[in-house]
Amino acid sequence: MEFSCPRCTTAVDEEFYGPCGACRDQLRATYQAERRLVAVPEYEPKMNVTPNAVALKDD
Ligand SMILES: [Zn+2]
Repeated sequence: MEFSCPRCTTAVDEEFYGPCGACRDQLRATYQAERRLVAVPEYEPKMNVTPNAVALKDD
């Protein structure tokens, strides 16, 4: 079927209605980039916690 891509409005001829091939590639790349960002947890060093706990015990 022929239609305009709902994302970039380019006229395409695809079997199913949806983003064109170029847009699907972009969406897939964006999805994978987001997955990569989520997969890496924010690292919070807790080195400062231990000295404080030790200092409280010294009082
Ligand atoms: Zn498109």
